[in-house]
Amino acid sequence: MEKYLSQLNEAQLAPTLQKDGPMIVIAGAGSGKTRVLTYRIAYLMSLGVDPFNILSLTFTNKAAREMKGRISDIVGSSEAKNLWMGTFHSVFAKILRIEADKLGYPSNFTIYDAQDSQRLIGAIIKEMGLDKDIYKTKQISSRISSYKNSLITVKAYFQNPELIEADTMAKRPRLGDIYKNYVDRCFKAGAMDFDDLLLKTNELLTRFPDVLAKYQNRFRYILVDEYQDTNHSQYLIVRALSDRFQNICVVGDDAQSIYAFRGANINNILNFQKDYDDVKMFRLEQNYRSTKNIVNAANSIIEKNQTKLEKVVWTANDEGAKIKVNRLMTDGDEGRFVASSIFENKMEHQLMNSDFAILYRTNAQSRAMEDALRKRGIPYRIYGGLSFYQRKEIKDVLSYLRLIINPADEEALKRVINFPGRGIGQTTIDRLVVAANGFNRSIFEVMKHIDKVEININSGTKNKLLNFVTMIESFQVMNETANAFELADHVTKVTGLIKEYRDDGTPEGIAKMENIEELLNGIKDFVEGQEELADATGALPEFLEDVALATDLDADKGDADHVALMTIHLAKGLEFPYVYIVGMEEDLFPSGMSMNTRSELEEERRLFYVALTRAEKQAYLTYTMSRYRWGKLIDAEPSRFIEEIDENFLEVITPIDDRRFNPMLSADIFGDVEPNMIRFKKPAKRKSEEKPPKFIPPAKLKPIGKSTGSPDVNLFDGKLTVGNVVEHMRFGKGEVLKIEGVGADTKAEINFEHGGVKKLLLRFAKLDVL
Ligand code: ATP
Ligand code: MG
Repeated sequence: MEKYLSQLNEAQLAPTLQKDGPMIVIAGAGSGKTRVLTYRIAYLMSLGVDPFNILSLTFTNKAAREMKGRISDIVGSSEAKNLWMGTFHSVFAKILRIEADKLGYPSNFTIYDAQDSQRLIGAIIKEMGLDKDIYKTKQISSRISSYKNSLITVKAYFQNPELIEADTMAKRPRLGDIYKNYVDRCFKAGAMDFDDLLLKTNELLTRFPDVLAKYQNRFRYILVDEYQDTNHSQYLIVRALSDRFQNICVVGDDAQSIYAFRGANINNILNFQKDYDDVKMFRLEQNYRSTKNIVNAANSIIEKNQTKLEKVVWTANDEGAKIKVNRLMTDGDEGRFVASSIFENKMEHQLMNSDFAILYRTNAQSRAMEDALRKRGIPYRIYGGLSFYQRKEIKDVLSYLRLIINPADEEALKRVINFPGRGIGQTTIDRLVVAANGFNRSIFEVMKHIDKVEININSGTKNKLLNFVTMIESFQVMNETANAFELADHVTKVTGLIKEYRDDGTPEGIAKMENIEELLNGIKDFVEGQEELADATGALPEFLEDVALATDLDADKGDADHVALMTIHLAKGLEFPYVYIVGMEEDLFPSGMSMNTRSELEEERRLFYVALTRAEKQAYLTYTMSRYRWGKLIDAEPSRFIEEIDENFLEVITPIDDRRFNPMLSADIFGDVEPNMIRFKKPAKRKSEEKPPKFIPPAKLKPIGKSTGSPDVNLFDGKLTVGNVVEHMRFGKGEVLKIEGVGADTKAEINFEHGGVKKLLLRFAKLDVL
């Protein structure tokens, strides 16, 4: 252990070695907070604390796994295995399964993901006959979520005239009823949504003192990473559990609090000292992650926030390169610039793809990056989009599996009752829902007794429903002896899911079939991994729980070498040698929707601080002059955050050819245009009334002279016809499939040997007819 403790500096050692009592570590990015938590757990174990008595809560399950790995290195894996470690949701889902009956839930309850709960809310709004333009599913769902996270139950809601009035004022007087129906339906389906995992844990700990005592006794040492982003519900759980022994250690950075929009409460960190007696407070000041330039630039940004705890962050690391700021014309150019820059850096410094991250404010920005990386042949992965487990074909398989475990699961049932098609129509399903609500039974139960139920469904359809029930019941029998893989493999065949996609025969169908195969491989891996653990069974419920709680980061096994693309929110706690922060424009970052109040703007600034402090060696900021947003090309202005960085740490770079005068260089059809770079001085500070020169969209300009992409007059005149074989300088040979449009807008659809089918504007396309 001594050997490992020597890997900490003095400031880090103090909280690591502080064994008992409440303590808080507040420190800036990259100063070793997570490292302190990790080493502290190992140290506690070396003092003889039983790992079963240590609970450690992290932001992602991946972070927990990495921590566990590190602790295993220090104290051995047989001991580390017994630590309670994971996200709030995964740890408390496990506890809820054990205690479910106390809350009237089955221990095999389903976990509804965001998609399931939104579908249910949408269905309820429809069933209640409400106007879906006023009752927007997403908004209602986030409102319900915020009630749950503030521990406002349905009962509490109806007892609170202010809430009712607020929703009535917002023209949604029925919100309380939707909330009530939603909660009832989840309960009846034996399902909890993500927020329930916290809400029900609170309920459990408040209503059952013996249960509280049991877990207080078990979790004698509690540690929480990223404490600045806990919400009220999480805060109360931590408080309750740590109340007896008060051995609670939280680490965080108020400057990195970025989830207020989801209910995170920065006051949890600010008030920690008031919540417990005799709190020990520690500060870390030395950053080990980043160069001086990055640390100082980040300091100069966060300084602009008024609400903050004063902190010092410095580093003994090298000066490093300055932060490069690049202006591009369009988001296509931005993508190409980033891809080329990654390529060059990789060559010049002999780097891996995984040394790079591209961070953006909104998911929509990933597309331009993806296109450019793909063209360059640079492997990448997008995190936080639709996760693998949320793809339709995968959710279909999972829904069958969920039904086997919990046939009351309404969302699972509705997904697959008629997929693959078995002639059960929407009207039948609607009638089943009504009947189930009327009898206060699950849909599956109604189907099971469909012969005895008075319902307007013809006998042919009744038989189809019974066949479905029999099929699911046969899977349930198999589940008693088979492992999760055998069962899933059987299910995909018997239900006809695989066949559905195989018969489809389109590339999309094949891709879906391959995804299902990938899922089966994953289940196999899981079963084999479980076989090594003495107490696990390789059974289906455990797999489904893992899947339900897997965040997209968790799915990353870290095996493939790829560039990481993600939103800044998701990048919290991570680090990469090279970081590109793209879309540094007003209204985008800071987001146009978060500039109304100082506190919103300060949260955006903290977000920028988080983004920049992910970089170890080099950070790039890019912005464009114009960008497509909401389907329109708009002028973009550089983000105020660029100007807020002390210019000593910046290097402003602008393309030598001002492309706005040469629209063809920006045209996508030419593929990669190497940006020819020249250094400029930072532009003079923008005064608010002084707008940057107006950008004229390429379409309004006439091409100048015969440059790289000068129009081929012959083609333009329409000499090209379907069936012609042409050659393109980059895509190679191709066959013309279709010609459409007239005059300057004539387009041809061509199937190229490299790159497949492309639509090109003949005005720009440099084609030779062969
Ligand atoms: P964030 O606020 O971004 O979550 P953090 O405070 O949790 O950052 P860590 O991730 O623990 O910081 O540490 C940042 C980097 O510095 C890691 O790569 C870590 O291994 C390294 N590091 C931390 N402390 C030391 C040390 N004493 N000696 C060497 N490297 C260190
Ligand atoms: Mg950390």
